[in-house]
Amino acid sequence: MRPSSLDPLFRPFDSFRGVGKALSAALERLLGGTVALDALWHLPTGLVDRRFRPSVADAPPGAIVTLDVQVEAHFPPASRSRPYRVLVSDSTGEVQLVWFRARETWIRDMLPVGARRIVSGKIEVFDGRRQMVHPSHVLPLEQAATLDRVEPVYPLAAGVSGRALEKLVDQILESLPDLPEWLDPTLVAREGWPTWTEALRRVHRPETPDALQPEDPARRRLAFDELLAGQLALLLVRRRFRRRRGRSLVADNTLRAPALAHVGFTLTGAQARTLQEIDADMASESAMLRLLQGDVGSGKTVVALLALLTAVENGAQAALMAPTDLLARQHLETLRPACAAAGVEIALLSGRDKGRERERVLAALASGALPLVVGTHALFQDGVQFHDLGLVVIDEQHRFGVHQRLALSSKADHAVDVLVMTATPIPRTLTLTHYGDMDVSRIDEKPPGREVPDTRVLPVDRLEDIFSAIGRAIQGGNRVYWVCPLIEESETLDLAAADQRFEQLRSRFGERVGLVHGRMKGPERDAVMAGFSSGSLDILVATTVIEVGVNVPEATVMVVEHAERFGLAQLHQLRGRIGRGTGRSTCLLVYAPPLGSVARARLEVMRTTDDGFLIAEEDLRLRGGGEVLGVRQTGLPVFRLAGGMPDLAELLSVARADAKRILETDPDLEGPRAEALRTLLYLFGQDTAIRTLWSG
Ligand code: ADP
Ligand code: MG
Repeated sequence: MRPSSLDPLFRPFDSFRGVGKALSAALERLLGGTVALDALWHLPTGLVDRRFRPSVADAPPGAIVTLDVQVEAHFPPASRSRPYRVLVSDSTGEVQLVWFRARETWIRDMLPVGARRIVSGKIEVFDGRRQMVHPSHVLPLEQAATLDRVEPVYPLAAGVSGRALEKLVDQILESLPDLPEWLDPTLVAREGWPTWTEALRRVHRPETPDALQPEDPARRRLAFDELLAGQLALLLVRRRFRRRRGRSLVADNTLRAPALAHVGFTLTGAQARTLQEIDADMASESAMLRLLQGDVGSGKTVVALLALLTAVENGAQAALMAPTDLLARQHLETLRPACAAAGVEIALLSGRDKGRERERVLAALASGALPLVVGTHALFQDGVQFHDLGLVVIDEQHRFGVHQRLALSSKADHAVDVLVMTATPIPRTLTLTHYGDMDVSRIDEKPPGREVPDTRVLPVDRLEDIFSAIGRAIQGGNRVYWVCPLIEESETLDLAAADQRFEQLRSRFGERVGLVHGRMKGPERDAVMAGFSSGSLDILVATTVIEVGVNVPEATVMVVEHAERFGLAQLHQLRGRIGRGTGRSTCLLVYAPPLGSVARARLEVMRTTDDGFLIAEEDLRLRGGGEVLGVRQTGLPVFRLAGGMPDLAELLSVARADAKRILETDPDLEGPRAEALRTLLYLFGQDTAIRTLWSG
């Protein structure tokens, strides 16, 4: 169990002074977590030197200054849409303090006419006059000393002020436990890194702009901690797999041949090659842990099907796990005919269904009567028993983490072969971070006859043209995806925008327009999807990418609004949803101008290539590792601290070598450095890896 010395770091936000329910909820949205550590991992991106105290006349426009002034007069606004102004001055000149939509009494109490005040904020010149809009601090003279410092600037979101976050972090920094050093002392000395606690204090309280750079030793140390924890966890997990005895599953093609004959096409060279690699793994005595990487539409499903049937040919059971219920159902529909041709039953185990059918499937899995099953993670909940599970295929669609993958390895006494399918085109250099040393097979060739979608980039003011174009497409019997992005910070606003677009499309194209979004209930969403799939809807407006994970060959047009907000990997995945049939397909990437140069270059990459790996490499080049690996873009685990390191790949290989060395000399993490290393694993949420130390 987690050592109690770490408790202060796992305190919930609202257990700190000054943090109530509302702030705590806003913090959770901003930080993606609920405990002190989540705030510690959120690093400042700027600083403000409040010690700069020029006279009014000397205050440079654009600079953040702290002024010592006298309050002259108040100018309440004539209407609510106008700002409230307060004139203040010193012996050298005047400044207007400006508030929009502020309460008059609050301002009058804070700034009585004739009083002397310290105000701090950004100086601007407007209409030839100096002003300060929404000063960050207004204090009586006695409190001037509290501004005698450098203030960290954090990335913020609605409901969280910089001051509130700073106060919370202050309390956390005060209560940091003294933890033993887990890093190799030689490395620490060579790099000149501070201790963990010292590093945290430094990164959160930067004194100079240098302290914000990725080269700062404190930042690098924390980044390295994160990478080391990740690599250590991956190695522990991997070792557990290796330790378990697998079984040999050799394909005899008695089932595969009729299934493939039913599917009716010849495998591409890349499919045949990856299948061989999988066959070899399954035939070997040790357990398979292989990643099957391939673009959307590259034909992973048929490869997975043949692997599933290999298990059945050996009298074992196999399971296919999909990230959503909808995708599980779709897999079932795709696989069932081919399985039937081979005389193999395949069923769905849904978390949603209850009752008779579920009971029947559960019983058949336990008795071994049912050889193949498709489902979501519900497949691996307690109460699901397999008679003899030989293979699990995980269709990842970038939704599962290492933790879930681990949970299913515990479903059988012997080691189950595991094949993970992913369409996330992670650059080769970064595969390691997410999948450790899983073996990788890559389908790098598309089935024949596939046309690359014609991709155009255009500004949102061409909406009228877009409407006409999709009108023509619908006339021609095509179906259209209309994707509206959802950014977490203001989900309601985004939903409203999508809803508005939906209404607009409805009034233009009539009833045959559907809307799906993440807030809808499963069955409701499925019904809309089914409508689009069957053709009773022509246009599907979708706010999230998850729902779009469905195969509708008739869909040949995709409009992506605010394409500039998406990660390229995500755009690529989205675009892969069209052009699944053999006809011509069109993708319209719509942006809201103005577009920065990097954003323009990124969309240009999308326009000119359809090679997922090339796209990923380009995205990495244009935006740096952190962005590409950001969880919002790819759905993969994000590096909270290491993401911004320009030399991420190198730092990672050092971490990797270190992790290897650690486990070579101390395989069970029992030596002198071990306790500290376990602490490190807990800090980065790698509890599952720790558990393998005992259960492996
Ligand atoms: P993925 O799972 O990689 O996104 P799928 O397995 O769904 O891709 O395949 C996409 C489409 O291509 C499917 O309609 C499938 O039937 C077809 N397909 C797959 N392999 C081949 C092949 N070798 N020749 C022709 N069509 C193929
Ligand atoms: Mg597929």
